[in-house]
Amino acid sequence: MTRRTPPRPLNVEELFPEIAPLGREAVRLHPRAGEPTCRDSSVGGPLRWPAREPWPECPEHPGSPMIPVVQIYRSDLPGLVPFPDGCDLLQLPWCPRRHDGQWVVPLVRWRSAAAVGQVRQPPPVPAEAGYGKVPRPCVVYPELVTEYPSWDLPQELWDALEARFEQVEQETGWDYQYHLSTAPGIKLGGYPGWCQDPRWPACPDCGALMDHLLTVESTEESDSRQAWTPVEDRDGRIEGPGLRLGDLGGVYLFECRACPGRPFTHRFDS
Ligand SMILES: [Zn+2]
Ligand SMILES: [Zn+2]
Repeated sequence: MTRRTPPRPLNVEELFPEIAPLGREAVRLHPRAGEPTCRDSSVGGPLRWPAREPWPECPEHPGSPMIPVVQIYRSDLPGLVPFPDGCDLLQLPWCPRRHDGQWVVPLVRWRSAAAVGQVRQPPPVPAEAGYGKVPRPCVVYPELVTEYPSWDLPQELWDALEARFEQVEQETGWDYQYHLSTAPGIKLGGYPGWCQDPRWPACPDCGALMDHLLTVESTEESDSRQAWTPVEDRDGRIEGPGLRLGDLGGVYLFECRACPGRPFTHRFDS
């Protein structure tokens, strides 16, 4: 089974040629409830974590284990996600407990799957985990799509295009931001799934703006964004990871690909 996003209902690059150069590839993961193993890409599934390494713990709740959120093998990705040399496995655990000023504390790990060896048994999910912060185990159906900036559209382009966006919406019913720009759900690359004005982080080491690595949005189901619902899911409810990040918001991971060790950080909004 696969998941296929329907083509955009309008041709963005023909209607708004100014936006064409800003197109970016994103890989939608389309997580669906299942029984992944640590040898599978997953959302909320077991991580292939080496037995020789300690299980990751929250820096703000010392001794409190993180939980698996995303694991991706490069071989499962259709697009060109730039893995570091020698790595073919991306892992994202986070601390699901309540924190001052943020919902979760995430960690990004790049690995070589072949170098993991014996796999560590994960500790139990902490009883203090917040509501909707522990994803249900899901298998994934990665799919490559093209995105255009929504909240990230430069102000001068926004000013230049706003009247045409409105005209197109009146004529066709399709809204640029909701239906034509960024895909909802959990995705690698593309544009962050901001719900509000962007807050791109700068690299703590070199000061450059960081790259968007991964968006973990609460859900890819949305009445207002059905134009993005895969054709296979049109007639039923999507049984996804069941995350609740704020008021159906998201967590956005960023990294600096120019600096050694790829420093990462995150933002969130709702
Ligand atoms: Zn914590
Ligand atoms: Zn840097």
